[in-house]
Amino acid sequence: MSHSDSTPPLRRNRPGFTWDGVERLAYKANGEAPFRDVTRQVLFDDNTLGCQWRYFEVGPNGHSTLERHDHVHAVMILRGGGRCLLGGEVFEVAVHDLVSVPPQTWHQFRAGPGEPLGFLCLVRQERDRPSLPSPQDLARLRENPVVAAFLDDEPSQGS
Ligand code: MN
Repeated sequence: MSHSDSTPPLRRNRPGFTWDGVERLAYKANGEAPFRDVTRQVLFDDNTLGCQWRYFEVGPNGHSTLERHDHVHAVMILRGGGRCLLGGEVFEVAVHDLVSVPPQTWHQFRAGPGEPLGFLCLVRQERDRPSLPSPQDLARLRENPVVAAFLDDEPSQGS
């Protein structure tokens, strides 16, 4: 797919964080990896640049997969807020914050209870598959109580 045959000159933004001609897709295949309430839209995909620009949206109380990989991400928050785990640290994130995910760094995004967390994610077209944490990796991450609380932050019943 080259720029000229795949990307129109303008994709107009539409209500609800959608864009003309862009489908709202499943984040990942069911059962491929743990996540909760995430959608994916591929806004830009160009062979000459070798990059894709995606918009992900995590529903209230949802979360992306906890994963790591060789390729890097540049993430810009576009909607709502929440928290992200990056390596051994947890950060609050808000609209227009920029998160850089280095190679082989555990990362996960979590939306707060009130609103979705939407973000742009820039990524190489050719990239390695994410790995998921082993029980040992999880135990190591959980040694930090802040990280443990982040990972355990599942919505309570009825909230
Ligand atoms: Mn990732």
